[in-house]
Amino acid sequence: MKSAPFTYHAPTAVEEAAALLAAHGERARVLAGGQSLVPLMHRRIERPEHLVDLNRIVGLDRLEADAEGLRIGATVRQRQVEGDAAVAARWPLLVEAIAEVAHPAIRNRGTVVGSLCNADPSAELPSAALALGGTIVAAGPDGERQIPLARFFAGPGETALARSELALELRLPAPAPRTGSAWLELARRGGDLPVAGVAAVVGLDSGGRCERVRLACANAAPVPLDCGREAEALLGAAVDEEGAAAVGSAVAAAADPVDDYQGSAAERRRVLAVLVRRALLRAAARAEGRS
Ligand SMILES: Cc1cc2nc3c(=O)[nH]c(=O)nc-3n(C[C@H](O)[C@H](O)[C@H](O)COP(=O)(O)OP(=O)(O)OC[C@H]3O[C@@H](n4cnc5c(N)ncnc54)[C@H](O)[C@@H]3O)c2cc1C
Repeated sequence: MKSAPFTYHAPTAVEEAAALLAAHGERARVLAGGQSLVPLMHRRIERPEHLVDLNRIVGLDRLEADAEGLRIGATVRQRQVEGDAAVAARWPLLVEAIAEVAHPAIRNRGTVVGSLCNADPSAELPSAALALGGTIVAAGPDGERQIPLARFFAGPGETALARSELALELRLPAPAPRTGSAWLELARRGGDLPVAGVAAVVGLDSGGRCERVRLACANAAPVPLDCGREAEALLGAAVDEEGAAAVGSAVAAAADPVDDYQGSAAERRRVLAVLVRRALLRAAARAEGRS
């Protein structure tokens, strides 16, 4: 099947794009890489009357790392981030998670910000960026605002963005010293969306005790599941098998996963418990420079 008819807009400035979105409201959709939206349009699950393509807007293709952190513009492709040396050195969790997204051909077009705006709770990048403490910079008719990812995801396919807003960029803070991270997932085939996935970020003090921890899980709830509260149990002690396993059990109990063709909710809880334990141990080992 092919898409229902639509009017294609190719603005060259953010203000122009925001004005188009404000004018057409519910009838418009933003187009970034098109790797989620276009298949949905072809199946006529999405039938926008207006498509607002961001790809000609100057400056949205910027990928910048400095002392403050990382800024990933709305049209930066997943593949570009995956191959960037500064990202690999300072935000390796992002590279690990992107490598599990679909296949290179899809990552060549798909954007990091588009994956966040698509808000699929089973996708890798929303959970990875949440664990990294990301913030979305959005623009609309009233100007710009910042939305921490902890408040961005509202449900499957739903975000805190208004219909008249577009996401300009993702910002990630600079990692502190002695920080390690890990992305782990279980998928039925390489390139599939995960049955469940886990992003862990662990910071250690000079004595090897956990002083910062962030944990987020994919396909564990209707939104990327922020498991910061469960992970806090690790603070002040070395991250060992017993502590990591206890957090895994707590996350499994807190999760609200779906039952679908990839696995039952009960299976997903068991998978989450194992992935959380392994991801925390791997992140802690990396923080110590052991892995
Ligand atoms: C065969 C196949 C396999 C895939 N496998 C995986 C997988 O394993 N894991 C995974 O995570 N993803 C997977 N994907 C999805 C892929 O990663 C997409 O690239 C990604 O989900 C969306 O990015 P995009 O740039 O293509 O967004 P688009 O498809 O252009 O947009 C997606 C949605 O976000 C909105 N949007 C996009 N950018 C903005 C913005 N800047 N501001 C406001 N709204 C915006 C759009 O309006 C649309 O609703 C797969 C896709 C395909 C086709």
